[in-house]
Parts: sequence; structure tokens; C-alpha cells
Amino acid sequence: SGGDSVARAPSSLASENVDCGAGRFRLSLSSFLDIRKGDITVWSVDGSTDAIVNAANERMLGGGGVDGAIHRAAGPELVAACRAVPEVRPGVRCPTGEARITPAFRLPVSYVIHTVGPIYDTDKQPEVSLRNAYRNSLRLAKENGIMYIAFPAISCGVYRYPYEAASKIAISAVKEFSDDFKEVHFVLFSDDTYNAWLDTARELLP
Ligand code: ADP
Repeated sequence: SGGDSVARAPSSLASENVDCGAGRFRLSLSSFLDIRKGDITVWSVDGSTDAIVNAANERMLGGGGVDGAIHRAAGPELVAACRAVPEVRPGVRCPTGEARITPAFRLPVSYVIHTVGPIYDTDKQPEVSLRNAYRNSLRLAKENGIMYIAFPAISCGVYRYPYEAASKIAISAVKEFSDDFKEVHFVLFSDDTYNAWLDTARELLP
């Protein structure tokens, strides 16, 4: 009971809005951006409508990198669900910059949102395509009542998008949806992408 006389620091300094702990940033009064290293296939939020985003290709029938890992973890039902997505032209189910949603099957989340980022060296407007991939994924998640969503570093693997530029597009796109999710996570596999994302969040989320 004598503890009440101990002076305490004010509990809500404005500066706490910046970087709320390792990799955690405030997006709005009630939502957070979380940047972590790890494997997106094991990410979930218990008891909530949640989704992970897949860096897919236009055919949507699986591939290497995070796409391969997601399909292996989800089981063969996922490729069947992707095959059932209508083609918009031969061999193309999800054009670059767009997004599609499927169930997540054996993954611990409610949904997988499949999006296609640009191939950096051949896309005519890679910045526009990457921004569209993030925006369309977030819009589709919102339409489906998803409150928690995790992204990988779209296009930062075999599609060779430079990390720093990609992180600016990713985090600025998430900022546009500040009030729409409880938490947006980036689950990043490499030190390089993780460090780029942290630097950019510190710069863009004051
Ligand atoms: P893209 O074709 O869009 O470049 P990649 O799968 O090649 O997609 O790479 C995208 C990013 O995903 C890369 O930074 C890669 O290191 C990362 N990645 C690979 N496997 C996983 C995983 N299991 N969880 C999260 N990120 C992953």
C-alpha cells in the first residue's frame, strides 16, 4: 500500500505511438502494424477471422518460394480451390496487381489471399503493380471481414524487387487502410527484408 507514493512515468506519452516495442507500430487508435521475422505458414491469430497473403503467380497453381511453402502447408485442397478460380484469359486466373481469395484448408488461418506482384525487370510500371497488389489484397480482406492479416515481402524473392523500395510501397499501402484491420503483420523470411521493413516503418509511422 506504500507503493502509491512511488512516482510513475505518465502511461501514455505521445512518443509511445512510435515503435510500440520490437517491430510493433501504431496505425490508428485501435490498430497495429507488426513486423516480424519468420515463416508465414505458421502465422495465425486464435479465435479471429484471419488471413495470410500468398505471393502467387498469374496461373495460381503453385510455384517456388513462399507460394510453394503455402501450398505444401495447406495441402492439395488449396491447388484444387485455385484451379476452380475462373481464368480471365488462357492460363491467367489472377492478373498482376490483382487478388483472389480461397479457404486456407490445413493452414491455421481462415483464408489465403493470393496476389501477384510484378517481375521487377520486365514489368512496365513495377511500382504501380506492387502498390495494386497490396491495395487489392487489403480491399479483398476488408470485404471478407478479415480483422488480422499477414503479408510476406511480395515480389522480393525471384521477382527481384529492391527491398527498400518495396518496403515503402508495402507500408504506405497499409497506412491507407489504417482503420480497417485490428492488426496487419509482415512476416519476413530474410534479414534484408526484415531490416528494410523496420527502417521504413520507423520513417513512415511517426
Ligand atoms: P516473388 O515471386 O513474389 O518474388 P518469392 O516467394 O520468391 O515471391 O519471395 C517473396 C518473399 O517471400 C522473399 O522475401 C522470400 O524470402 C520470402 N519467403 C519465402 N518463404 C517464406 C515463408 N515460408 N514465409 C515468409 N516469407 C517467405
